[in-house]
Amino acid sequence: MRTPLSSPETVVVVGGGFAGLFSALAVSERLPERPVLLIEPRDRFLFQPLLYELLSGELQSWEVAPNYRQLLSSRGICWLQDRVSAIDLDSQKLTTVASHRIEWGDLVLATGTELNDFGVPGVRAHACGFRDLNDVTRLRVLVEDMKKRRTRDAALAIVGAGPTGVELACKLADMLDGAARIHLIEMGDEILPNSASFNRERAAAALERREVCLHLNTAVTKVHTDRVRFKDGTVLPHSGLIWSAGSSPTLPDLHPSPAGTRAPLKISKDLRLLGHQHVFALGDCARCSVEPWPATAQVAMQQGDAIAKALQAISSNQEPEHFQFQDRGEMLSLGIGDATLTGLGITLAGPLAFKIRRAAYLTRMPGLSLGLRSAGAWLMSR
Ligand SMILES: Cc1cc2nc3c(=O)[nH]c(=O)nc-3n(C[C@H](O)[C@H](O)[C@H](O)COP(=O)(O)OP(=O)(O)OC[C@H]3O[C@@H](n4cnc5c(N)ncnc54)[C@H](O)[C@@H]3O)c2cc1C
Repeated sequence: MRTPLSSPETVVVVGGGFAGLFSALAVSERLPERPVLLIEPRDRFLFQPLLYELLSGELQSWEVAPNYRQLLSSRGICWLQDRVSAIDLDSQKLTTVASHRIEWGDLVLATGTELNDFGVPGVRAHACGFRDLNDVTRLRVLVEDMKKRRTRDAALAIVGAGPTGVELACKLADMLDGAARIHLIEMGDEILPNSASFNRERAAAALERREVCLHLNTAVTKVHTDRVRFKDGTVLPHSGLIWSAGSSPTLPDLHPSPAGTRAPLKISKDLRLLGHQHVFALGDCARCSVEPWPATAQVAMQQGDAIAKALQAISSNQEPEHFQFQDRGEMLSLGIGDATLTGLGITLAGPLAFKIRRAAYLTRMPGLSLGLRSAGAWLMSR
């Protein structure tokens, strides 16, 4: 099957998350003469940093997950709702699950990551992730069920005390309101090892206030439907387990295949896939060994803009500049109406930090009018 936009001029973007969507938007703005095709199987963009507020009902799905049709309609970007299955890097052609064969001039790979169970048995069968709208629905049902039953000794386990595990533990503790004890299980010897110390301290205090039971230096070896086993042989019964212990790249089949199928794609500082002049890889699925930028939405969004500048430079026969990450700090949600933030010389925690975090994210939503509409709806609800 041929697609109208399949041409040697087309910029094809694979994956419509932060990196892919922001690349497509920036390329269509800076290089209006280049056709842009975005290939993404989901019908909605998901602003993952606000997933906690969607779970708690503090925000609605139209605010956190606008649909692609709405986001792309007036921007001249063609969206193909499909999944890329294989890519031939040498002949510059790709194939999708629905059998489209597409040729590109420049390719942007931004396929993100998926849950990594690190080979622990039972994770895929019995654990829930926290990455998309299905996970939110599943968790809401679990919380409602626990609140209805209010059984003694009910326990909810969260594995991994990075940002997702910690933020989720605080939000769920507030939502459950004593209907279950939350256990946060971490293999390392501290929570949030990569966070600013102010945020780590505030998060530790928020977990303590909510009586979250923290298990440090605890490795999970097996997950069952109603209990989890640790390396030291002890067992913790649970009524639900959320796995937030790690992720690995989601990649279609690539020919020739780069080494290590579950490893991030190796890129240079100008975001090009090593050895390929017309292939860029960015966001969470890629890694530059010289400068390992963090796997965050902040980096992914900035890389989207950098791709457009790089293509502009190449079209004027110049070498693209190296990507420079502007670190604007870190914001963490710490339960209903609470947050902590560190960045740009500011440290702040509590209800004001919560409001700033939410407003900052909502106004960063792609498609400014939608972001403003959303921020307006929020301000009016106060
Ligand atoms: C709960 C949660 C909270 C977070 N909070 C923050 C935060 O506060 N601040 C922050 O900076 N970061 C945060 N992050 C991290 C941030 O969301 C990621 O770093 C960011 O989403 C990475 O963007 P990406 O475009 O690389 O990948 P993604 O956003 O995951 O997008 C990848 C896209 O590719 C699509 N795709 C996959 N395979 C294919 C294929 N074969 N063909 C076509 N399309 C495909 C997927 O459907 C998906 O839409 C959070 C993450 C989570 C899960």
